[in-house]
Order: sequence, then structure tokens, then C-alpha cells
Amino acid sequence: MTEELQGLIFNIQKFSVHDGPGIRTTVFFKGCPLNCKWCANPESKDPRNRIAYNHKNCSKCKTCTQVCPNSAIEYTNDRIVINHDKCNFCLNCINNCPPHALYLEGKFYTVDELLKEVMKDEVFFTKSGGGVTLSGGEPTLQKAFIVEFLKRLQELKVHTNMETTGYIDTESFNEIISHLDLIYFDIKHYDSTRHKLYTGVSNKLILNNLEFAVNAGKNIVARIPVIPRFNYSVDDARKFIVLLKKHQIKQVHLLPFHNYALGKYEMMGQEYEYKDDKNLQNADLEEMLSVFLDAGFEARIGG
Ligand code: SF4
Ligand code: SF4
Repeated sequence: MTEELQGLIFNIQKFSVHDGPGIRTTVFFKGCPLNCKWCANPESKDPRNRIAYNHKNCSKCKTCTQVCPNSAIEYTNDRIVINHDKCNFCLNCINNCPPHALYLEGKFYTVDELLKEVMKDEVFFTKSGGGVTLSGGEPTLQKAFIVEFLKRLQELKVHTNMETTGYIDTESFNEIISHLDLIYFDIKHYDSTRHKLYTGVSNKLILNNLEFAVNAGKNIVARIPVIPRFNYSVDDARKFIVLLKKHQIKQVHLLPFHNYALGKYEMMGQEYEYKDDKNLQNADLEEMLSVFLDAGFEARIGG
């Protein structure tokens, strides 16, 4: 008997109007091969399901350390620390934590289960010209699952979009994008060295896949997260334009940096490199936007 495919999802957001045309349901897949310094979804990075800990809710009763059969939880420096390699998901800790400071980061769905969940909003997709968007994390990390899921959405004539870093082998990328109506393609930096410094990987594979998607005739929107100290200048805008023109991209979304994730980093007990950076407002990006518009792009600020 073959095992049924399962996808690990960390959020499903309904009635989204920023992730493609119309009203959409956006499915956030867990796991990401990049490690962007400004990441807004730190809980999405680990491709495994994990026990998550909200230290603000913790009453420091230490019950979890006593009920864990694998000694995977220690209490140290006024907080608990979980050794995820020792955890076998017995869930004793979650079930015995009085203030619910512990919970599972993600949830597994079969294709049927996920389809059932997203199709609850079919009427909104139909009326608004919307559909389903895959996001993350990086959805392509769960290739086998998303290909099946996208095929089923296509059979139901639901519009499909995917927000992607494009960081996956080109053969797999090819298979996935053949089931997409639209691609929101993250282009974080035009320079490979800076890309690697701030995300952990070079942009070479990403740009290869971008070229591949363009040659395949896909409908592509380039999404540029505008990040202080990384790519936030008019000079950067001009250099992005050279790159995007080379790849015949016409649509651009500039996404202003925000630090709303600060609370998540604090909750997870992780250091956030952008903790002292202020949110960028739309007005802060107007100059960059003008450069794109003057160069003939269909550009806008935000999704
Ligand atoms: S059982 Fe819950 S409240 Fe008690 S120490 Fe563990 S995480 Fe904190
Ligand atoms: S789920 Fe079970 S094994 Fe994992 S940390 Fe909690 S009590 Fe320990």
C-alpha cells in the first residue's frame, strides 16, 4: 500500500486580497531553504513539524520537563528549551501545559483534506475571479504534495498562484509551474554576493528558474521585498530594472519592509537582526516606484 501524501501547513489565510487576483485563500507551507535576515515568518523556516513555545504564556511550572518521556525539555535561563531531535511527538507536554504555552507549529493535511478546506470558499473565488495561492515558507519544498494539490485545483477550474523564492532544481520547478496560472516570483537582489550574504544562498539558481518560467510563457509578477541596508535605494531600483528587463518581466510589486515579526522572534527566543529597523511606509518607496514606472513597468507598492 502506498502512503498517502501529506502536506505540512502552518497557516491557511482566507479572504486574502493581496496574494493574486480576486478573493483568495492562501496556504502557507512550512519549510524554507533560504534564511533571510529580515524574515517575517520565522516559524515557517524549519521544514519539520515542531513543538512551539510561547514563553510569554509560560507560568514556569516546569510540568513539561517532568512529563516528557524523552527528556527533550529542559528549563534553563528562565525559560524552557526543547531538543527537537529527541522529540517523538507524544504531545504529553502540550496536553499537560496549564496555560497552553506549548503548541504544534504546523498541521499535516492530505490533499483531500486541504482541498476540502480551501473549497469552502469556492463561491468567493467564482464571484471575485479569485482562487488559491500557495505561499510559505517555500511551497516547492513539498513538491510531490503541491503538484497533486495543484492538479486537483486545475480540475476544479480554480485559479492558482504561487509565491516562490524559485530556489529549487529546475526540473522540479518546471513540473510545478506547469500547473500554475500565475507566479509571484521573489527577486530579492540582483547581486549574487549580497543575495548570499542576506539570504544564505546565491541567486544563480533562482535567476535560472526565472528565465525558465519566462521562456515557458508563464504569467509572472516580480516581487521585491524592499529591505533597509539590503536593497533600499534608487540605485538598487535601477539595477533591478536592468535584470528584470533582461528577463522581459513587466509587472513588479515593491513590498515595504515591516518588523511585525519581532513578537514572533521574541516568542521563539530567537535573535532578530532587524529588530531596530523601522517599518517602511508606502511613501518611503515612492521614489523607487517612480524609477520603475518611468522605465515602463507596471509597478506598484504592496501586493
Ligand atoms: S508546562 Fe507549560 S507553563 Fe509549565 S513550564 Fe512547561 S511550557 Fe511553561
Ligand atoms: S511532544 Fe513528547 S517527546 Fe516531544 S517534547 Fe513534548 S513531551 Fe517531549
